[in-house]
Amino acid sequence: MRTVIVGAGQAGRRTAEALRGLDPEREILLLGAEEEPPYDRPPLSKEILLGEARPKGLMQREMNAYAAERIDLRLGVRVVAIDPSGRCATTADGTRIEYDQLVLATGAQARRLKLPGADDPRVMVLRNLDDARVLHAMLRPGLRLAVAGAGLIGLEVAAAAAQLGCAVTVLEMGPRAMVRSMPALIAERVAGWHRAAGMVLHFGCALTAITPQNTGLLLATGQGEIEADLLLVAIGAVADDALARQAGIAVADGILVDAHGRTGTPNIFAAGEVASIRQPDGRHVRFESWQVAQQQPLAVANAICGIDKPYAELPWHWTDQHGHNVQVFGAHEPGFDWIERDDGAGRFAALGLDAEGRVRGAVLIDNGRDATPVRRIIAGGQRIDRERLSDVSVGLRLLC
Ligand SMILES: Cc1cc2nc3c(=O)[nH]c(=O)nc-3n(C[C@H](O)[C@H](O)[C@H](O)COP(=O)(O)OP(=O)(O)OC[C@H]3O[C@@H](n4cnc5c(N)ncnc54)[C@H](O)[C@@H]3O)c2cc1C
Repeated sequence: MRTVIVGAGQAGRRTAEALRGLDPEREILLLGAEEEPPYDRPPLSKEILLGEARPKGLMQREMNAYAAERIDLRLGVRVVAIDPSGRCATTADGTRIEYDQLVLATGAQARRLKLPGADDPRVMVLRNLDDARVLHAMLRPGLRLAVAGAGLIGLEVAAAAAQLGCAVTVLEMGPRAMVRSMPALIAERVAGWHRAAGMVLHFGCALTAITPQNTGLLLATGQGEIEADLLLVAIGAVADDALARQAGIAVADGILVDAHGRTGTPNIFAAGEVASIRQPDGRHVRFESWQVAQQQPLAVANAICGIDKPYAELPWHWTDQHGHNVQVFGAHEPGFDWIERDDGAGRFAALGLDAEGRVRGAVLIDNGRDATPVRRIIAGGQRIDRERLSDVSVGLRLLC
């Protein structure tokens, strides 16, 4: 059996490792377009920007570990076409590689601004290690950095740049920060940290034109003009699903898969951020999160080996900004009733109740201790008395 994995990022690596763990005999090819061995992306907008060349959590294994596990890792190799009927992938140099199973783990690309001037070298995105190294080299005290997009990556970059002495302005089209990833009450707290660090945040503020000048970039917005030396565009990611689309595999903002990572095309799977995963209610959701790239590939490897273990984890993601760690669990819907718990020692929790009084989501700030109890409370789906939930003298451990 030969399994070919396209994309040597976190999800590709995890698929290869899991397959090797399940099947010592299988031939495993891991093909990556980047020259770097597989790495995890969270440190790119955090430690790397702050100057750590090789932070813990970047590379999970050394190059020689792949050979030791007989994972045939080929870097700088881009797959340009797949042929499902002939079970074959073609690389940019014309090499044809046959497979028994194919896993598409091609991730996503940073969404670009479609405005004149957006191709100026002072307009950047942050997706890969090279981007992070270039950005780190440019961040210096006094640099006027504008960030388009107050999502997780935009705000993490803004926080790191402010820490390095840059003058940071954030331009966000929406009404508040982190609309997709955090409830409003947490976004407001986080925005407060940014303002306290001297940053300027503009909401409801779309960038409408970029005019490159000798002295910097002139940015026109709905709220007036801003001058910047550098513009970081952090307006989300677009699934890298072109191979699947060209091969006739169903896609809709990502490759449509079931809870085992199976596409509708025999012997082809999708793993990680490129996968739009079918949920129990029938919707498909694509997650831009470390957790999914880490865990969903295990379901894919299991399915390839004939083991029925679907991906069914409670959603979780985190961000680090201004020295604070924020973790989000489960859902955060606009109608939730949020109960806040502040223990007075810097640990904070907010629990989101739905209309039926069930805890469906939680956010923890600098509070890793409560991660296990909130996971259990949400997974349990039970109704918990509102007063007990609000009482910080009752540990969350006692409520799950
Ligand atoms: C800057 C940044 C910070 C982040 N921080 C956090 C965080 O704090 N918390 C959190 O939960 N999540 C975070 N994330 C999200 C998370 O890390 C990603 O969702 C994760 O990297 C997805 O992994 P992946 O392997 O699916 O895709 P990717 O990491 O994108 O890997 C896909 C790989 O496939 C390669 N590829 C694409 N097409 C081809 C082809 N045709 N042939 C060969 N190779 C190909 C690409 O070059 C790439 O190397 C962050 C993401 C970024 C970009």
